[in-house]
Amino acid sequence: MAKKQIFKGFIKKVKKMDKQEISKETLQTLYWDKELSLKKIAKEFGMKSPNGIVYHMEKFKIPRRPSDRKDYQKNPFSGNLIEKAYLVGLRAGDINAGKKNNCTVIYATSTKPAQMKMLHKLFGKYAHLNEYDAKGGYTEKSRKLVGYLDNSFDFLVEKPQKIPEWILNDNELFYSFLSGYCDSEASWILTEHKKYGGKWKDRAFSLGTSDKTVLEQINQKLIELGFNSHLYLVEKKGIYGDRKRNLDLYRVMMSSHQEVIKLAQILLPLSKHEDKIKAMSKLIEYEKLNDEKKLVKKQNLGTIPMACVYCKHKKVWNNGFKKYKNKKYRRYKCPSCKKEFQRKLTNINPLQKKTLMVS
Ligand SMILES: [Zn+2]
Repeated sequence: MAKKQIFKGFIKKVKKMDKQEISKETLQTLYWDKELSLKKIAKEFGMKSPNGIVYHMEKFKIPRRPSDRKDYQKNPFSGNLIEKAYLVGLRAGDINAGKKNNCTVIYATSTKPAQMKMLHKLFGKYAHLNEYDAKGGYTEKSRKLVGYLDNSFDFLVEKPQKIPEWILNDNELFYSFLSGYCDSEASWILTEHKKYGGKWKDRAFSLGTSDKTVLEQINQKLIELGFNSHLYLVEKKGIYGDRKRNLDLYRVMMSSHQEVIKLAQILLPLSKHEDKIKAMSKLIEYEKLNDEKKLVKKQNLGTIPMACVYCKHKKVWNNGFKKYKNKKYRRYKCPSCKKEFQRKLTNINPLQKKTLMVS
């Protein structure tokens, strides 16, 4: 009885323990000296999952026992070059990697759930990934992800200072690389102009980072591929009021509507980032809608009182394609059934003919 009470008291005490109280010494003793599992250590601190302990292990840079990863299903990299180019692009962006305990380790911190989802999609099939709350230093709630990968992923260890030749010399691989880089760094912008009641929208592609060489290569390659791409210095490093910029910021920018859409259509099937996919799809959809509207406007020269030959709708659009002008037949489109038909101009009564000429 007494023993049970003491035990209960102990549990209460550890449950009250703030996670901040987990010191490097305690953790090292429990993990390396007493050889407790992460799960057991978490239990000692009253945590339900070992993620918090993993976080502290990372924070204190305490190496993990190799036996800890025995249950990890580590699969070697597929060797697929398109996949490899994409991953190199991602690494050139904001994904970190290194070597630890004879593994290639990837790290990422983000406030965006889509970013985490993307990483699980990419690496989940190769190894078990640890995802947990990254505490401190962030205003928004951010998550951290760590994955111990097979050493066939060691091409990710070095952050590329420039795009490798094997990628740059192959258009398909270049687009795959660009997709990976854009999935971590690019913005696909559709701006509504309040001035025009939201009727006019601007479309832009913006890729801003401090990797000058990589951006120069991307800009050059996009120009070679027929895009009207621009590169410029956004802001020099320095102190701006209470804000400090450590590195010069450059940007690759495209604002020609057709070219933004063209690039979005190429990168959409290659992207693995839900938010970017949504943004690109929105741009493409908007363009489609716009084209349809433009076509109707171009076609529709007003309504005339004539019955549709298909559905007998009382009015039809005077559907004036230029190529039909001054021809024996004129085309009409029904606003109800959307079918088109043509009629001899002489069949129209004088009143209708007048309407035609006015339009
Ligand atoms: Zn009709």
